Amino acid sequence: MEATRMKKLPPYLFARIEKKIEEAKEKGVDIVSFGIGDPDLPTPDPIIAELCKEARNPANHQYPSSVGMLDFRREVAAYYQRRFNVELDPRSEVVSLIGSKEGIAHINFCYVDPGDINLVPDPGYPVYGIGTLLAGGEVYVLPLLEKNGFLPDLAAVPEEVAQKAKLLFINYPNNPTGAVAGKEFFEQVVDFAKRYNIIVCHDSAYTEIAYDEYRPMSFLEVPGAQEVGIEFGSLSKPFNMTGWRIGWAVGRADVVECLGRLKSNLDSGQFQAIQYAGMVGLRHSGQLVKDLCAIYTRRRDMVVDGLNRMGWNLKKPQGTFYIWAPVPKGFDSASFTEYVLEKCGVIITPGNGYGQYGEGYFRLSITIPEERIMEGLRRLEENLGKVEF
Ligand SMILES: *Cc1c(COP(=O)(O)O)cnc(C)c1O
Repeated sequence: MEATRMKKLPPYLFARIEKKIEEAKEKGVDIVSFGIGDPDLPTPDPIIAELCKEARNPANHQYPSSVGMLDFRREVAAYYQRRFNVELDPRSEVVSLIGSKEGIAHINFCYVDPGDINLVPDPGYPVYGIGTLLAGGEVYVLPLLEKNGFLPDLAAVPEEVAQKAKLLFINYPNNPTGAVAGKEFFEQVVDFAKRYNIIVCHDSAYTEIAYDEYRPMSFLEVPGAQEVGIEFGSLSKPFNMTGWRIGWAVGRADVVECLGRLKSNLDSGQFQAIQYAGMVGLRHSGQLVKDLCAIYTRRRDMVVDGLNRMGWNLKKPQGTFYIWAPVPKGFDSASFTEYVLEKCGVIITPGNGYGQYGEGYFRLSITIPEERIMEGLRRLEENLGKVEF
C-alpha cells in the first residue's frame, strides 16, 4: 500500500496528451514540439571543458559538502554582487542545490507542519504546490490573472489565511505566463511578508532569460527582502544545463541554514566537478547569456508575429522562453491541445496543466530551432486559418 501522501499528488494532467504523442510517433508522424521547457542548445564549451578537467581530479571523487563548496558559494555571491549589487555572505547566506527544483520542494519540509498554509500562484510551476502537499500543508491559491499582469493580488488574501500562511511562492520572470515583475511588486511582497511574518520564496530561474535590454532584477535587491525571504537560482536555463542539476538558494541566513541542515540529513550535495563547471558559467554569464538571449529573441519574434498574423493579439514577453496565449473560440485548453496535435502534428502545453487559472490558455516553448518553429507555424496557419476569440 502506498503512503497516503502519494494520494495527495494531483492527477497527472499531461498523461492523456502524452499518450496521443506516443501514438502519433508510432504512426511515424513528424511532430513539431513546442512542449517542454528544456533548452535545445548545448552547454557552452568552457563549462564542459571545466567539467572534464575537474572530473580527472581525485579530490573531487569523494562526497561533496551538502551545502556546496565554499568556492562555489563565493562565486554565487560574486555573481550577485556584480549583477544585482546585492551583498551575500557565502558562508551563511548561500547554499547549493541539486537543481533549484530540489530546494523548492525541500523548503516545505523546513517550515510546513500538517495543516499549515502556503500561498501558491496559479498558474504556476507545479513543485510549489506539490512540495506543500507532501509536507502535509495546504495550498491557498493566488490566481494570476491577465488583467493584473499575471501578478498575484496580495490584498485579496483573507486576513485569517495570511495570518496562518508560512511560505509565499513567487516566480518572475514567470513560467508559464512570461510575465515580469518590477520593484514596486517586490516592495509590496516585502511589506506583506513583514506584516504577516511569512517567508518569501522567489523562484528566479528565468532572471537571465530576458529581451530588448530588459534586465530582470533579483528579489533581494529590494530593501527588506533579505529579512523576509530567499531566492532560488538555477544554472539550468542561462547555461543550457538542465541535465547537470545545479542551483542555489540565497538570502535570509536562518532560512538558508535551515534548508542546508535539512539537506545535510538527506543528500550529499552535487558532484564537485559540476560545481566547478557551474562556476565557469557564472563567471562568464554576461557574454554567454547575451548570446543565448539573442537566439531566443529571434525565435520569440517569429512565434509571436506568426500567431498575431493568424489573429492573436499577443504582446512579446520580456522574459522566459515561453509564449502564453489564449485558445481560440470554441476550444478549451485540452481540446485545443488535442486539436493541434491531431490536425497539425504540433505539440503545445495545455494551460490548465499549470492550475485552474491556466484554463483557456496554452503555452509554447521556444526551445526548438528556427526551422522547426517555421514549420510548426506553417502547419498551424494551414489548419487554423484566421482564429477568433
Ligand atoms: C526550469 C525551472 C526551474 C529550474 O529547475 P532546476 O531544478 O534548477 O533545473 C525552476 N523553476 C521554474 C519555474 C522553472 O521553469
